[in-house]
Amino acid sequence: MQPRKRFGQHWLKSEAILAEIINASSLCQEDVVLEIGPGTGILTRRLLEKVSAVIAVEIDRDLCAKLSKQFGNQEKFYLIEGDILKLDYHTHALSFPPVTKINKVVANIPYNITGPILEKLLGTISQPQEEKYDLIVLLIQKEVADRLLAKPGTKAFGGLSVRMQYLADCRLVCQVPAQAFYPPPKVDSAVVSLSLRPFPLVAKNPKHLSTIVELGFANRRKMLRNNLKSLVDGDSLSEILTTLQLNPQARAEELSLSEWIQLSNYLQN
Ligand code: SAH
Repeated sequence: MQPRKRFGQHWLKSEAILAEIINASSLCQEDVVLEIGPGTGILTRRLLEKVSAVIAVEIDRDLCAKLSKQFGNQEKFYLIEGDILKLDYHTHALSFPPVTKINKVVANIPYNITGPILEKLLGTISQPQEEKYDLIVLLIQKEVADRLLAKPGTKAFGGLSVRMQYLADCRLVCQVPAQAFYPPPKVDSAVVSLSLRPFPLVAKNPKHLSTIVELGFANRRKMLRNNLKSLVDGDSLSEILTTLQLNPQARAEELSLSEWIQLSNYLQN
């Protein structure tokens, strides 16, 4: 079938990458997996071999018809036609008799809605998703993967890095060249795995953390003491940073995740 641009359709064709995705997902017979955008079903087929149920959400009606034909005779295949961002797939999934909980997400997602999908799956700092999956394995655009995996002090480290690293332990599974797809996308890709955190360090007030991260990164070239002016006066912030053994002239990208949490907790005292 001719891939549709508006749905971000790029069919994965590399066996090696499929094996990496399956391997990183550590699948077992008890797993109930959500797959976003099954497309032509290349990953779906492998998931079905290993787990107790696959809940597949696909927006493209023609693909849904094909998928039903291909997998409809398998009891553990549940197809939901619709937009992953608009659907309450949990409620849908529970209407499938044996399913009580989705515990993993494994997908090659449409890149144009990566941000909203991440937020739907993980929630936000101030409102983490209540349904905590055991594991999320996603094939995404490399540039976004770089931000999820970025270390403080690097160019890729930004608000998205802090938000996602607060919610999950983000790891690189493998890099994926554009040629692994048909048609090849304009960008390179990567497979990442996200394990949701029970936190070693929790923000006292997640809303506040969320606010200072947003303000702090609003202008990357400015010092934090300037970006956070509306909350704390610059000299006080420099003093606080010094107390926390941080550079009083630090920019947002220099603080690690735990330093952001420390700063937020300190400002909340
Ligand atoms: N998993 C397949 C296809 C990946 S392409 C493979 O690896 O080959 C992305 C898929 O997501 C396409 O099938 C596209 O139709 C689907 N898609 C795009 N937007 C979607 C949305 N909002 N909700 C659900 N599926 C969507």
